[in-house]
Amino acid sequence: MNENLPRYELYAIRYASRDGRRPEHFLGGDPHDAPMPMDYFVWVAVSPQRAVVIDTGLSREVADKRGRTFLRCPIETLGALGIAPQEVEEVVLTHLHNDHAGNLGRLPKARFHLQEREIHFATGRLMRFEHLARPFEVKDVCDVIRLNFDQRMAMHAGAHEIAPGIRLHPAGGHSPGLQFVTVHTARGWVVVASDVSHFYENVEAQRPFRLVVNLGDMMEGFEALTALAPSPAHIIPGHDPRVMERYPAASPALEGIAVALHVPPHA
Ligand SMILES: [Zn+2]
Repeated sequence: MNENLPRYELYAIRYASRDGRRPEHFLGGDPHDAPMPMDYFVWVAVSPQRAVVIDTGLSREVADKRGRTFLRCPIETLGALGIAPQEVEEVVLTHLHNDHAGNLGRLPKARFHLQEREIHFATGRLMRFEHLARPFEVKDVCDVIRLNFDQRMAMHAGAHEIAPGIRLHPAGGHSPGLQFVTVHTARGWVVVASDVSHFYENVEAQRPFRLVVNLGDMMEGFEALTALAPSPAHIIPGHDPRVMERYPAASPALEGIAVALHVPPHA
């Protein structure tokens, strides 16, 4: 822990889920055909000075279209943590996949931090391939282009510090412009991995996720998470339901909805 840095409260909001089985999540499948559901999260870091939202989730319409179980609007749920969405000024987009970069119109004052490489990819020649284009919603990509013309995009080409105690780190692989976030908290730096590691098992067992653009970058992403985390318990995967089991509810009213990541996990 660095005494000179602010200590943020950090929360994960669970906004959707879907059923799944182990073989469909890992590159090369898995010999155990057991259930392996996925949760969908956004995260928010809060200090007396600021609230930084990490990813914006998707809308009910996109969830219905893609067969996800929509539980609640992730942006509206910020209100339950005392954060007014219309006042949020800083938002990180870890990448532009549909479940991370929807709802942009619900944050009217925000500036959005994105790796420039991600918008190049999402508007580039490879989008003619359905397999590579499928994770993106064209509307979200168009929203980012409009926001850029409105001077509301902060595009980065590498690591960046948004504010003291909140840092961005590129780690492509799953998507070329993917980035993860380190947040300084009372238990030291917590690593919000987003889709650099969908599940605990990806980074812990060095097992690549099925959806991959560059496998070498994905493997090096696991290394980058580990290098920046004070311990494995400081890494927060992007889609693992166990995050909701390991961390305490943000408040009694938010049981099953939001958990506090700035405190140590139960196990
Ligand atoms: Zn995702």
